[in-house]
Amino acid sequence: MVPKVAIYDFTDCEGCEVKLVSIREKLLILEKRIDIVNWRLGQEDNKPGPFDLTIIEGTPITQHEVDLLKKLRQDSKVLIALGACATLGGIPAILDKKERAKWYKKIYGEEYKPRGIDALPLSAYVKVDFLIHGCPIDENELIRIFQELLAGKTPAYRGYSVCFECKQANNPCRIINGQPCLGPITQGGCGSICIKGGSPCYGCFGLRQEANVKGLVEVLQGLTDKKEIERYFTMFLSRAFDK
Ligand code: SF4
Ligand code: SF4
Ligand code: SF4
Repeated sequence: MVPKVAIYDFTDCEGCEVKLVSIREKLLILEKRIDIVNWRLGQEDNKPGPFDLTIIEGTPITQHEVDLLKKLRQDSKVLIALGACATLGGIPAILDKKERAKWYKKIYGEEYKPRGIDALPLSAYVKVDFLIHGCPIDENELIRIFQELLAGKTPAYRGYSVCFECKQANNPCRIINGQPCLGPITQGGCGSICIKGGSPCYGCFGLRQEANVKGLVEVLQGLTDKKEIERYFTMFLSRAFDK
């Protein structure tokens, strides 16, 4: 039987779903092997669960979204988090909680009654079967995971860090040159795209399994001050920094 697939999104920029659309022909080939029965962004005719596979982009930041997430978990055999907002809390989680009230007032005015809750990864609320990392996700990684799932396999996480791909790409190492980078503790899969483009790795692919966070922090302390190190970790890996 053709697996029934649903694609949902909570609070985010929808960039990861745009990546889904951008794989075009490959998505059409995949579509012959799956039945996308619910996808708000991609089609008008949407059906309710149960689903064989549900892919969720974004982080729930209202109680309504949390309730929907729990319902989707009940209705889904396999649930996958798509992109850093869903896997880590991502960009919506950067806002300092203590600052939230001030910004609500500034943006929406004194009368506004906030409904927002902390932006957390989906795994804070429900069991997630697999995480597709990135901000945005990498198309090739997405296709690999789809193909493995359709073949009945459990997809594996990359067993190496961004540094491995960075070396393969022959990029000069930022840390060796005295500049911070979170590549050593970040799971590979992005092809070290930021370093190629002249930026550091901020960890959007999430912590790799054997990450030595303390060891990297010690190295970074020799390169920059505490405030700057904290800034690096507030992007995607704030939970790792607290450990
Ligand atoms: S992970 Fe990044 S690109 Fe994807 S939805 Fe979130 S903010 Fe957008
Ligand atoms: S630049 Fe960053 S990702 Fe590349 S090798 Fe150095 S520490 Fe690793
Ligand atoms: S280099 Fe780091 S921040 Fe950039 S895409 Fe890769 S994992 Fe994400």
